[in-house]
Amino acid sequence: MLAFGAVVCLHFPQVLSSPELRPHYPMALIRVLIQAVIVAAIILGVMSAFLRRKKLLGLTGMLFALAATLLGGASVPINETLHDGPAIGLDWFLLDMLLMTLIFSPIEVLWPAYPKQGVFRPEWLLDVVYFLFTHLPIRITSFLILLPAVQLTSVLGNARLQAAMASLPWLVQFFLAILVADLAEYAIHRALHVWPLLWRFHAIHHSSKALDWIAGSRAHLVDDLIIRGLMLIPMMFAFSQNIITAYLLFVTIHATWEHTNFGPTIEWLEPYLIFPRFHHWHHTSQTEAIDKNFAIHFPWIDKLFGTYYYPDDTWPDTYGLHNEPIPAGFWGQTFYPFRSRGK
Ligand SMILES: [Zn+2]
Ligand SMILES: [Zn+2]
Repeated sequence: MLAFGAVVCLHFPQVLSSPELRPHYPMALIRVLIQAVIVAAIILGVMSAFLRRKKLLGLTGMLFALAATLLGGASVPINETLHDGPAIGLDWFLLDMLLMTLIFSPIEVLWPAYPKQGVFRPEWLLDVVYFLFTHLPIRITSFLILLPAVQLTSVLGNARLQAAMASLPWLVQFFLAILVADLAEYAIHRALHVWPLLWRFHAIHHSSKALDWIAGSRAHLVDDLIIRGLMLIPMMFAFSQNIITAYLLFVTIHATWEHTNFGPTIEWLEPYLIFPRFHHWHHTSQTEAIDKNFAIHFPWIDKLFGTYYYPDDTWPDTYGLHNEPIPAGFWGQTFYPFRSRGK
């Protein structure tokens, strides 16, 4: 499906590729990548069709690879001069999906916390749809978050504080940025849980019955905007754009990793940095851990505020919401928070 999407992007680059990414593409390399994904889809499709009882996945994969080839494959020329303007930005979804799958899926298959949970668990496609929807509007999200953020930096930014911060070593600045962001994220995340109006939105993120890296992307757009938007405000007082961008990259990787079905750990580091088992306890439906572990990076922030729950070595038995029926589909979940509760 990634290869098919990429070939469609080659056919309609003006509409489907992101203007902000276009200048950075080494096209020769991208074409090799597309060809490699097509070949991989066919090889993996054949293997899957042989090994799995259900043939649907393997055949679907091969069908998409075949369709990508019939549409011209990796060698489709780009015939138009591209100009800035509104675009859907399918390329960003495809690239990030490929990258995240390559990073996280192998470690989940090799060292799972729940070995019985497959990569293609129930509802995996729903979470791909969430991943798609959070990536397509790269323009909208950057417009809604980054643009006001840049504007606000000039208003909120404190020149003396910024100068003092800039004089520190880069790594120290980066660490302080994670600290400030996580304190903000702790407060926002806790508010999302305790304020019923906000919980309606955040409940969607907690509706996953099983966790893996892609489950982390299941979140209502409003939930995403609240967390990402508000978290940036305290950062803008003191940090440079460069540090904030580095932090945004870090939080994407760390927050995704916390949702992975990945067992191994580094025990001495666990008290200082959040590992998947910590955030998994945040997602459990077991009463002992409800409304615990709100931090995203540092577990000791929860200790500080009395919301820490981390039993030795055990993983939760159940995930999701026990007494809140959330609709199953993407659109049902999108409209769910806006529906009146009735009696
Ligand atoms: Zn939560
Ligand atoms: Zn989560």
